[in-house]
Amino acid sequence: MDFALSPEQRAIQDLARGVADRYIRPRIAALDAEERFDREIMAAMGEAGLLGVCIPERYGGGGMDYVSLALAALEIEKADTAYREIISVHLGLTSLAILQWGTRAQKERWLPPLARGERFAGFGLTEPAAGSDVAGMITTARRDGDSYVLNGEKLWISLADVADVFLVFAKTDPEGSHRGVSAFILERGMKGLKTGSIPGKLGVRAGNTGSLVFQDLRVPADQRVGEEGEGFRIAMTALDNGRLTVAGGATGLIEACIEASVAYAEQRKAFGKAIGEYQLVQQMIAKMVRDRDASYLLTMRAAWMKNQGARNTRETALAKWYASEAAWRAATDAVQIHGAYGFSREFPVERYLRNSKGAVIYEGTTQVQELMQGEYALGLRRDGSLRCELPAWPFAEDV
Ligand SMILES: Cc1cc2nc3c(=O)[nH]c(=O)nc-3n(C[C@H](O)[C@H](O)[C@H](O)COP(=O)(O)OP(=O)(O)OC[C@H]3O[C@@H](n4cnc5c(N)ncnc54)[C@H](O)[C@@H]3O)c2cc1C
Repeated sequence: MDFALSPEQRAIQDLARGVADRYIRPRIAALDAEERFDREIMAAMGEAGLLGVCIPERYGGGGMDYVSLALAALEIEKADTAYREIISVHLGLTSLAILQWGTRAQKERWLPPLARGERFAGFGLTEPAAGSDVAGMITTARRDGDSYVLNGEKLWISLADVADVFLVFAKTDPEGSHRGVSAFILERGMKGLKTGSIPGKLGVRAGNTGSLVFQDLRVPADQRVGEEGEGFRIAMTALDNGRLTVAGGATGLIEACIEASVAYAEQRKAFGKAIGEYQLVQQMIAKMVRDRDASYLLTMRAAWMKNQGARNTRETALAKWYASEAAWRAATDAVQIHGAYGFSREFPVERYLRNSKGAVIYEGTTQVQELMQGEYALGLRRDGSLRCELPAWPFAEDV
């Protein structure tokens, strides 16, 4: 395993950093305070190719590897979590699921505009009464001739009010548990689809999160992804990819905490010297550095396994669990180092703390991650074989 980044991977890092510097950093304090989503930032990320970075070139993407995906997430979240979430839901959860599970016709139809950032995608799994318990969803999809009729509601959906396309999950067999779930691609504008936003969130306030309501929503059968009853597996493999971007992003958030804390500790004086000279302050920063490196290495191992085409559910979940918890700890200590100033909007660390709480909830809560790792260790969980794998990198000609 080579720890050095290739020139192409460094170029993606620079590109993402450039977008963050130009579009996110100058605006984020105001956007966060006003709870305002900025479409121009999303468009800039799309134009830069960040939303199709690891989609094969034949489908309009950058053809880069999964390490590049993690690096893009890291650099964007270092500026703000809300805009990293776009990479997670648009590319990690939705586009990669279509790449993995879609037919050739579906990939050719849906991926190019998403990969080029001309259209934006969301991922609708969670419901008002079913989050961790995915198979407990009650949204239904009833087959009717050449289409399905969807009824139900999804909640806490990132980009609900801004995405053009959604990958959603519904029960084609309401009595069935995991095997009763199927996946469908929806488009904004379809009759029977309503979307809304959730105001007053604790964090990711500059992001859009909301609901999708399906009322006798008719979806052509050729917009079902995978076979009937394969939806649960599709959702779980989508999470294998989304979690890589959450882990990469959380690593970026820890870096932001380190930079803010070091700068503050160098200039703030107490008892006649800079607080950075006190060992208890150094200890908080040292722990952030440890957690930053451990998160980065776990993330890169998962990305490397994806490049090899190896099953990586355990490793990606571990990276997500560790990095999201570590980012929360780092943000807590960053606020502590800033004292009362950390409690105000004058410094970005209070935003880091609020934002870091999201990642220990979405894409599998910390408790779900702990259960998974415990079950793997005890031999109670094994990864079954899949009908479709995420394509290894470099991508084959016929992917
Ligand atoms: C900012 C944000 C963005 C999101 N974006 C999306 C999105 O784009 N698409 C989408 O589909 N969803 C999205 N979600 C939803 C998210 O994935 C869910 O909130 C998450 O899966 C947890 O589900 P829940 O909120 O229903 O909590 P619940 O599942 O009700 O859990 C509540 C508590 O019980 C614990 N718990 C549950 N089951 C167990 C168990 N078996 N053992 C121990 N503890 C347990 C949980 O860990 C948690 O602490 C988003 C959420 C947030 C906050």
